[in-house]
Amino acid sequence: MEKIGFIGMGIMGKPMALNVLAGGFQVMAYNRTAAKVKPLEDSGAKRAGTPAEVGQWADDVILMLTGPDAIDAVLEGEDGLFGRLGPGKTVINMSTVPPAYTRSLGQRIANTGAGFIDAPVSGSKVQAEQGILVILAGGDENEIQAREKLFGCIGKQVVHCGQVGDGSTMKMVINLLLAVMMAGFSEAIAMGERCGLETEAILEAVLSGAMACPLFKIKGEMAKEGKFPPQFPLKHMEKDLGFILHTAEECGIPIPVGREVWKRFNAAMQKGFGDQDFAAVKQIY
Ligand code: NAP
Repeated sequence: MEKIGFIGMGIMGKPMALNVLAGGFQVMAYNRTAAKVKPLEDSGAKRAGTPAEVGQWADDVILMLTGPDAIDAVLEGEDGLFGRLGPGKTVINMSTVPPAYTRSLGQRIANTGAGFIDAPVSGSKVQAEQGILVILAGGDENEIQAREKLFGCIGKQVVHCGQVGDGSTMKMVINLLLAVMMAGFSEAIAMGERCGLETEAILEAVLSGAMACPLFKIKGEMAKEGKFPPQFPLKHMEKDLGFILHTAEECGIPIPVGREVWKRFNAAMQKGFGDQDFAAVKQIY
């Protein structure tokens, strides 16, 4: 468990992998766009040319990729991870994916003899950089506990959610709430502004009361500046809301507020705000 493979050097994966390296683990990093591995290499990590190379070398392989298509792309094929998995190896998926996909991924990996932990994260770029994410873990409790030191490099807390698939379900719950809060915050600010209030006064009023929370503090700054540099890209939240609606449908629970909020994020995508932070949903007003 000392040799950690890390696949996906995006906004989240890069700082997470750097923290694992700083925590004393050996790290081998892979990214589809090879240039993004450089910061890891400069800090002492090994570079992999293919996902298969990562699977060959590592005890544990962490995936931090866009979603199911990206995960399948690194698993399959001659250079894929699958061919190198077997007993003694464990895949830890920290990407946000639907619970049904997680369960089938867990089964496909179990068929190779390797272990699997479902471990998406709550928190964004800043929390990833500071190593204070919340890890929403699903899977064998002993296997999760055995990775206390590894998870401690990435997050401040591990919430054990249940079996494989339950970590992903928890991530759906968290992101449903996050999307609804963000859309409500944006709508309230936009209404106040349109009715003649100063943005700064609106933020002061919201952040002085019971609704003062880190999310509104960080995203309020973006609203004030009118600039939305991507920490959690809007296109990813729109993707996640698609997973959330699908999961709710499978469970037979209507989520009308979530459905309405998805329409707002989808409209923002259509207007070209997908690569900005998800707080840019305010722009559609
Ligand atoms: P990102 O910056 O867009 O990075 C996505 C990563 O996936 C990149 O390494 C990208 O490689 C890779 N990728 C995409 N398609 C691929 C394919 N077909 N084959 C191989 N690699 C592929 O995204 P991120 O913000 O780091 O998010 C990663 C995951 O964490 C997502 O599931 C997201 O929902 C979740 N998440 C994000 C946040 C956040 O605040 N950003 C918070 C919690 C969870 P390239 O560099 O080559 O494009």
